[in-house]
Amino acid sequence: YAAKDSRCGIRVYRPEDDHDTARRLALMAGLRVAVDAGTLTVVYQPKVDPATGRVLGAEALVRWQHDGRPVPPDEFIPLAEQARLIGPLTRHVLDTALADCATWRGLGHPLTVAVNLSPDMLTDSALTGQIEQALRRHGMPPEALTLEITENAIMADPTNSRRTLDALHGLGVKLSIDDFGTGHSSLGRLAHLPIHEVKIDKSFVRHIVTDRTRRAVTDAALQLARALDLTVVAEGVEEQDELDYLRRHGCHAIQGYLISKPIPPVEFLTWLTAARAGGRLPV
Ligand code: C2E
Ligand code: MG
Ligand code: MG
Ligand code: MG
Repeated sequence: YAAKDSRCGIRVYRPEDDHDTARRLALMAGLRVAVDAGTLTVVYQPKVDPATGRVLGAEALVRWQHDGRPVPPDEFIPLAEQARLIGPLTRHVLDTALADCATWRGLGHPLTVAVNLSPDMLTDSALTGQIEQALRRHGMPPEALTLEITENAIMADPTNSRRTLDALHGLGVKLSIDDFGTGHSSLGRLAHLPIHEVKIDKSFVRHIVTDRTRRAVTDAALQLARALDLTVVAEGVEEQDELDYLRRHGCHAIQGYLISKPIPPVEFLTWLTAARAGGRLPV
């Protein structure tokens, strides 16, 4: 137990630690090359209104191929944070997402795009200026950009986060609380932040129909959101009965494999065209 737990101040040597460390170092080196070379790619997952089937926007999710294999973001984003690569990585995703969204809008799809922000970014005082410049570079109105931030990111450094959130809000971009329900913040504290949207974590959505407790979290989020004029997005919708439940309870937007997996930009445009022509969407 001590081997896994550094809280007690003891670390027991395990041979696999060396292997883990070697892998992490190799990944970090590879990631640095990819960030410098701009070879990270971005895929898009649509957000859809479950009441009308209208496509509202898309979330940008970063992808990395290392030695011919995809490395999951849950593995390399923490490494990017440790290696101080998260700033350039985020700017690359932001720039790509804004360029792609400008293209969609130019083709007559009035969509918004969402970009995920790591906790560290919230205490970076240069962030707001960089976002403002990126919007201008792509001729994008600020309200077409949503920034997704986890509640734990905000609670890690509430004072500095608050300053950044206020500055971003002042810029006119929209702020979304990602993975809602998994953190430790109360609904009451979130209500004081200049946020526009909450995203209910997929671990709640997954059991919405079968598990009373998780359904209660979702219901509470929907009620609070309505009272505060927030938009509620449900992520990880995989089943038709989940979608039906969310629609009946006034959820504003859904995302999940039931609608579409995250897909590359070219495929996304094809998907959009088909979705607009009707059909395809299970709503
Ligand atoms: P997230 O922002 O909460 O994104 C949702 C994750 O759920 C994505 O995983 C998405 O592919 C996955 N997902 C979507 N629909 C479904 C579904 O129906 N079922 C299931 N089981 N999963 C679904 P992904 O792309 O692997 O990203 C994981 C996390 O990595 C993201 O969670 C986000 O926290 C982080 N991440 C991804 N891209 C970026 C980025 O550009 N910057 C930062 N800072 N973090 C990112
Ligand atoms: Mg997200
Ligand atoms: Mg999420
Ligand atoms: Mg997540």
